Amino acid sequence: MDTISPSLSLPDSPREFGFYVGGRWIERGLRKHMERVSPGHDIPVTRITLCTKDDLDDAVRVARRAFKDRRWSGLSGTGRADVLLKAAAGIRERAEEIAYWETLETGKAISQARNEVDGAASIYEYCAGTARSLHGDTFNNLGDKMLGLVTREPIGVVGLIIPWNFPFFILAERIPFMLAAGCTIVAKPSELTSASALIMAEILTKAGLPDGVFNVVTGTGPEVGQAMAAHMDIDMISFTGSTVTGRNVLLASSSNFKKVGLELGGKSPQIVFADANLDEAADGVVFGVCFNAGQCCVSGSRLLVERSIAEKFERLVVEKFAKVRIGDPLDPRTQLGAIVSPAHNEKILGYIKKGEEEGARIACGGKAIGTKAGRFIHPTLLSGVSNTMAVAREEIFGPVLSSIPFDSLEEAVELANDNDYGLAASVWTSNIDKALQVIRSVQAGRTWVNTTITGGPEMPIGGFKQSGTGRETGVYGVEEYTEIKSIHIAIGRREPWVG
Ligand code: NDP
Repeated sequence: MDTISPSLSLPDSPREFGFYVGGRWIERGLRKHMERVSPGHDIPVTRITLCTKDDLDDAVRVARRAFKDRRWSGLSGTGRADVLLKAAAGIRERAEEIAYWETLETGKAISQARNEVDGAASIYEYCAGTARSLHGDTFNNLGDKMLGLVTREPIGVVGLIIPWNFPFFILAERIPFMLAAGCTIVAKPSELTSASALIMAEILTKAGLPDGVFNVVTGTGPEVGQAMAAHMDIDMISFTGSTVTGRNVLLASSSNFKKVGLELGGKSPQIVFADANLDEAADGVVFGVCFNAGQCCVSGSRLLVERSIAEKFERLVVEKFAKVRIGDPLDPRTQLGAIVSPAHNEKILGYIKKGEEEGARIACGGKAIGTKAGRFIHPTLLSGVSNTMAVAREEIFGPVLSSIPFDSLEEAVELANDNDYGLAASVWTSNIDKALQVIRSVQAGRTWVNTTITGGPEMPIGGFKQSGTGRETGVYGVEEYTEIKSIHIAIGRREPWVG
């Protein structure tokens, strides 16, 4: 790893955060708190309030009141769009501040954090359009005596649970869609990465969002998150995180049969055919597993490669892995930053060991990088993996690629689908027929041809199988946060039923 001096300096003391309810900051007071230590530097960077269930109840009451009196849902689409556009401008104004704290809390590279903040602003801009275009349907074919209308109404109070890997970007893939639909929100970021959600709350208030429409309660998953999932006065939960926790959320949601949207884990295949542009494919595969240090739900962590080119392709991947710039997350040249926590670091290294024990060969990487501070893992290629090994089946969530050869298109599809997850898939080939055959058969919510992990807010995201339920982003993402109502309107005099 390069020992590079960061161009940004570390904070002298942790930044203190209260939490945000009803359009204002609430001070920590006597509540407990936790200090978040920067994964790349091992110094405390933020101090976060550990809210209680009572705090959550208060926030839900505030959000309910804001929903009931229609201070937000009663506005026109134009009125909502105006706030979303101002929020986008507010994000751009504070982009550097958001990227800085995001980098310190997550350990991701600052260049990536900056891109994510910019991308987030553009999602709010996109949603301003959807706030204006959201509409229902009419049925003029019910006979002369009836007109049917189908309206979309905001679903109500949404509980939003967000993970630590893309705290600000995932928030942007959810909040403006909920707001475009007219919902009110209580958000709970991961206790590891709360800063950017709290900053966003302030930006939304300044943008003119009525008080109480967006609230942030910080704290732990088992305490605040679980209570949110079980809450009797929350109408929907949007959860992003692990499949294990997603299952808990689903079970807890049965308390009041709230709607649940789940975006969960993945073990996404990168399917590389011999006729692909191998250099470009290798670049894409390396990016796909190193992006966010592999801590990404759509990480392309399973390489399915045509046997005739497997050796050559693996060599290319190894060469490119060696060129990835790993380093201080605050250095703008860094591409691959730190692992989010010591526990997660151990989990990744444990998987690499398990892969070896199961018979895989470490073609490169395979260990932690010795540094004075922080935890970094070399991009790792596990060769000779079979699809039954744990490293092929389970989400490692680190820069670890498991390579599995295949002999035919049919076998590639079978291997791709032989997994509990179905979040994403990429195919690399110069034959469009082959690409489309694979894409049609692969069980995944987000797919790419000759590229990976890219797109825009116009396109929906979400998973097949145990990767989740529901869809986020695009018009589909706004519609998720609506209830549908059918309205039957009688025309003319009623035919009497009695006498
Ligand atoms: P979790 O699924 O535990 O955390 C995601 C969010 O859920 C966080 O806000 C967390 O809060 C919250 N949470 C935790 N427990 C509960 C609960 N019982 N009820 C409601 N909410 C809860 O992920 P981890 O952070 O523990 O990561 C574990 C693994 O999950 C990773 O190794 C990775 O495989 C996967 N993961 C997948 C993600 C994805 O985008 N698909 C994102 C993150 C993780 P808090 O952090 O405060 O405890």
